[in-house]
Amino acid sequence: MLKIVTLFLVFMAVLAMFGRLRLPGIGKRSDRKGSLPKPRLCPDCGRYNLRGGPCRHCTDKQD
Ligand SMILES: [Zn+2]
Repeated sequence: MLKIVTLFLVFMAVLAMFGRLRLPGIGKRSDRKGSLPKPRLCPDCGRYNLRGGPCRHCTDKQD
């Protein structure tokens, strides 16, 4: 009986290792801010433009 428990623990450890290697962001589905692939930067002002449309900072501050 003890062997089965040991094998089960080893199996879970291996699964956890593979899970970390292949899916590092698993278990944090609710945190969508951290799962963004690459934050877009405005070429004009250099600030973050996550929506991808016209830069909000540039359109607000038109001289
Ligand atoms: Zn801008």
